[in-house]
Amino acid sequence: METKFRESINKALHNPNLTGALGRFSEAYRISRQKAYEGYDFEALRTQIAERKSYAASHLDELADLFTKNAEACGTKVFRTNDPAKVREYILNLARENGVKSVVKSKSMASEEIHLNKHLEAAGIEVGETDLGEWIVQLAGQTPSHMVMPAIHMSKEEVTTVFNEQVEAGQKPDIPKLVKFARGKLRAKFLKAEMGITGANIAVAETGTLVIVTNEGNARLVTTLPQIHVAIVGIEKLMEKFDDVVPVLTALPKSATAQLMTSYVSMISGPVPNTDGTPKQLHIILMDNRRTEMSQDPKFKQAMQCIRCASCLNVCPVFRLVGGHVFGKIYTGGIGTILTAWFDALKSSDDIQSLCIQCGNCTEVCPGKIDIPGLILELRRRLAVENGQPLAQKAIFSVVNNRRLFHSMLRAGSLMQKPLQKDGFIRHLPFFLSEMTEFRSLPAIAEAPFRDTFKKIQQPACKNKEKIAFYAGCLIDFAYPEMGESLVKILNKAGIEVVFPEGQTCCGAPARYSGAYEVAAQNANDNIKALLADDVTYVVSACPTCTVALKQEFISTFESLGQTGSLPRARELADKVIDFSSLVKKLVDEGRLKFKEGQQLGKITYHDSCHLKRTLHVSQQPRELLKQAGYEIAEMYEADMCCGMGGSYSLKLPEISAPILERKLTNIKNSRAPLAVMDCPGCVMQIRGGLDKQNSTIKVEHTVQRLADELE
Ligand code: SF4
Repeated sequence: METKFRESINKALHNPNLTGALGRFSEAYRISRQKAYEGYDFEALRTQIAERKSYAASHLDELADLFTKNAEACGTKVFRTNDPAKVREYILNLARENGVKSVVKSKSMASEEIHLNKHLEAAGIEVGETDLGEWIVQLAGQTPSHMVMPAIHMSKEEVTTVFNEQVEAGQKPDIPKLVKFARGKLRAKFLKAEMGITGANIAVAETGTLVIVTNEGNARLVTTLPQIHVAIVGIEKLMEKFDDVVPVLTALPKSATAQLMTSYVSMISGPVPNTDGTPKQLHIILMDNRRTEMSQDPKFKQAMQCIRCASCLNVCPVFRLVGGHVFGKIYTGGIGTILTAWFDALKSSDDIQSLCIQCGNCTEVCPGKIDIPGLILELRRRLAVENGQPLAQKAIFSVVNNRRLFHSMLRAGSLMQKPLQKDGFIRHLPFFLSEMTEFRSLPAIAEAPFRDTFKKIQQPACKNKEKIAFYAGCLIDFAYPEMGESLVKILNKAGIEVVFPEGQTCCGAPARYSGAYEVAAQNANDNIKALLADDVTYVVSACPTCTVALKQEFISTFESLGQTGSLPRARELADKVIDFSSLVKKLVDEGRLKFKEGQQLGKITYHDSCHLKRTLHVSQQPRELLKQAGYEIAEMYEADMCCGMGGSYSLKLPEISAPILERKLTNIKNSRAPLAVMDCPGCVMQIRGGLDKQNSTIKVEHTVQRLADELE
């Protein structure tokens, strides 16, 4: 990771205006978005959008030809190119031919993508942004920090300073007055400009129509007052039919700004006469810039389904801390990382891809149904192929992949840590490791790993001979063996014998999330061999990250690497894998497990682990079990927001992990419950360690521990 990138993160984290504005906005957004979608079937709506955009992505050439034919039939000139330089050249030539000295623009990410303003200004043409946020960032000499709200990172005081210094002195930090002032100044620009430049939200092929959505009405002035209108349209905006406009226009305002409707929707099918009766020139530039290539990539084709609503930024726990400028380019957030890798260069995404904590919040709200975290993993894989794996990482994975060596090292670590640990925690680490314990205590390595403890457990004879294999994962095996013991106890109560296949090893998530897919594939093969050796009903895991690896990622890793020969066994394993809470809920529902009767155990709060809730769609099962046991659930605010652990993320980017954790701890404390429970040993490590660092008396446990003693 480059020092400059790290510095930009720290600068953003220490900008109270930025974190304050984004934090407040993201909180309000979650609630108002939910309200805006009340009465709508979001899943059905986004399925429609995804299907129609996916169809368009598979028929780009055909739709571009149809659009061109229909738009030209209405008197529009259409120019199609793959090359951003040709877009700039076309516009500059047009401006020169028509003696254009002044241009007004409405918001257009495509024009930002090709750095159009700089190019026109270098040729002596005055360019004025007319979207208020865009104008502010233009005056401040910055780039937009958010796709929909470009100046969200600036306070009213900062905007006042910009207006005073760049436009006219004497402005006060009063928002209505600042808006009125801007309107007056922008009106003069509209009236003076000879050319108006816009983007478009949709380009309808069957009619040659552009659909442009704004909240300020500026696009209407940009497209009507100047004598020439140029629209720069990325070809991902093409859609086949007029009917396709409906789902996009239904979702866009709700997802972008949580509005039921956008204030202005303009539909332009051919040029209309100017106010003086002269004919208007309408030029539409269909810009490719590697979009066709993207649509032909089996993994990245789905990124063409993006409707640029920025919902994914609004719910991202990292974006709300660091904002958009750390992404360094035009497009920001998770989807911005993907677009940058394609529209700029793969290597441009090298640092910024590391910002993704893989919580999956974005995918849950994306109206284009795009698996943003999955695509970021694919970027990591391609970057690892292109750059090679860093040496330190290679060394770590070669140890992890050598099961015997890895386990021996952990056993040795358990002895060496003795002077550093107290009450099961390591609260301070020396030298360069000190950063790891700055914001949370770490768990001590267990004196005896679960794989040793398991051998000593006397399991009662099971009448029905049913066996379930337990996949412990590294954290339960080496840090929290007591969680494994509780799991055995519970399954024994249901009359099930637990087997612990000795050959199991790391689930491969650390390697996969670092782009080292070959290492992850080796982990997958070792685990498949071990876990399918016994004839068992299920393979249960009490770690959601491991469960996702076993159930889904072994398959997708083999698919990505083209190792199709390994797929049948990976699928056989996937069919047997189940998470702990779902298994216990099933056993309770079948009457094979019973809770002690009449217990009133008091308040408890529950934290949803990202992988359990968003990838495995399990959130009610643990809550219901806890209630049945006799607990009263005191829901914490943002229960399903990431705790900042993200596996090795908290080690790689502790400066981001720490404030995410801080927010989670505050929400836990505000629930007033003395006990916080969760289904993930990684979240236990992060949250328990954070509370320990703050000397809090709140206890943190895995659900498996909480339930073990409450079952008969
Ligand atoms: S990726 Fe999805 S959520 Fe993000 S901007 Fe695109 S459509 Fe909106």
